[in-house]
Amino acid sequence: MPPSASEDPQLLVGGWREVSLVDVLESVSFTLWLAYCNLRCPWCSNARLARGLEARAVRVSEVVDAVKAARPFIDVFHVTGGEPALQLRPLLVLYERVRGETGLPLSLDTNGTMPEALEELAPLLHHVAIDVKAPLSDPALYARATGTSEQLARKLAARVQRSVEVACKVPFLELRTTLVPDLVSCGDAFRAAAELEWAVGKGRRVVYVVQQFIPYEGVLGEYSRRKATPAEEVKACAERIASKLGYREVYYRTLEEGAKKVK
Ligand code: SF4
Repeated sequence: MPPSASEDPQLLVGGWREVSLVDVLESVSFTLWLAYCNLRCPWCSNARLARGLEARAVRVSEVVDAVKAARPFIDVFHVTGGEPALQLRPLLVLYERVRGETGLPLSLDTNGTMPEALEELAPLLHHVAIDVKAPLSDPALYARATGTSEQLARKLAARVQRSVEVACKVPFLELRTTLVPDLVSCGDAFRAAAELEWAVGKGRRVVYVVQQFIPYEGVLGEYSRRKATPAEEVKACAERIASKLGYREVYYRTLEEGAKKVK
């Protein structure tokens, strides 16, 4: 008998990469991109995916089969987007099946604006990466960085704060900020990291990552014409966070060097 729709629901998928060396720190992942996002970051590197312009409906079982085929080459199953938590119900089914049928640890990349969904996902996860787009105390900047209104940004930032609290239950928590030219500076990333330093004492392994904006072809509009953040600026910012704040591990991620640990 074929599985029912509740056992084998559909996901709106942008695509997947069977073997990725760049999506999860120190791991080789199967990475799945889920379509649609509730934010509109003007520098988004997956803008078409985030707007659902590249979505196709795929059954959970098709993804599970692809993960099983890649199993000998990977050590973690990673889901990113878009915002994966928007598809909570089928995502839960997918995670349960991948865990049950492959034994792989599970990983999620989220913008952190859906803490209720993260509460449901957290018990399954080994690793969660939360994108901290701007200091959570700065709604004007958070609004600019995410393409939202200041009023909405105030609420979203409080929700990201809640998500970080929830994510402290996950064994490995990665907090990430991307340096975006003329939008999110190293000073902003430092403030964002300083405001969330409390997570180090609460989580089991909490890592801060400073990332480089790269004008990939998926970037639309004004930011598609921008240059990448200089790699040395990204590295220097990670070093500043490592030397001044209490994070035990700090990384930077650039096209030139991949993910590098500074502490
Ligand atoms: S949260 Fe991520 S996927 Fe969504 S618009 Fe921003 S950068 Fe793009």
